[in-house]
Amino acid sequence: MMWQATVLTLYPELFPGPLDASILGRGAAEGYWALDTINIRDFSDNKYGSVDDTPAGGGAGLVMRADILGAAIDSAPRNDRPIVCLSPRGAPLTQARARTLSEGAGLIALCGRFEGIDERIFETRDIEEVSIGDFVLAGGEIAAMALIEACVRLIPGVLGSASSLGEESFDGGLLEYPQYTRPREFEGRAIPEVLLSGDHKKIAAWRREKRREITRTRRPDLLERFAKDGPIRRDKNKEPER
Ligand code: SAH
Repeated sequence: MMWQATVLTLYPELFPGPLDASILGRGAAEGYWALDTINIRDFSDNKYGSVDDTPAGGGAGLVMRADILGAAIDSAPRNDRPIVCLSPRGAPLTQARARTLSEGAGLIALCGRFEGIDERIFETRDIEEVSIGDFVLAGGEIAAMALIEACVRLIPGVLGSASSLGEESFDGGLLEYPQYTRPREFEGRAIPEVLLSGDHKKIAAWRREKRREITRTRRPDLLERFAKDGPIRRDKNKEPER
């Protein structure tokens, strides 16, 4: 079954945008995944096509109406897919969550705009709120693209060389080791000798050590989380062939 992303948005013309480039575009062309959009404005109940109104209790900005969003959400075929609302107050997106989502049937992404969304939509629908970081965007579209891209590149077959998925950042709770390629010398700096030694055991040990060192200095929180939660869960049967 093909992994399907359905995006509910006021700006469907932004899609697929960058999701059509490079490996993701090729993956779509080869039938690994597909994207469709639903224009929330199509569910407006007035001739102006408006979907928002002033916040109850006062304050700045506009809030997206629950009745209109409800109709838009209910029009999307569920097909066993979770509904994910991109939101700064959601659970921070992790590689582990992207991997689990990539192993499912796809997702339905709800993109907010303006001040946000009437709370009752979260009380009446089974919606997971996901944040792409502790900062505020103007809308959920770029966040939805980030989420979809993180998932789709993990679908077996989408990345040509499966080996590049093996040791990247966040696997085993660690960031990636430093990478080098030609030329052998760049502005007086050589490639670390061990990488040119041909000794695969030594190279693996060097990379392991570098991953720990980089994670310790830049993201000690990852090491702590790894110690607590254990390795990122991986479904061996769904791992791409090597
Ligand atoms: N008033 C809200 C921010 C609204 S920003 C607040 O203070 O929390 C408008 C929309 O942009 C949101 O509804 C959400 O869909 C999207 N958005 C903004 N920041 C985001 C983030 N860090 N991650 C995911 N979506 C985000």
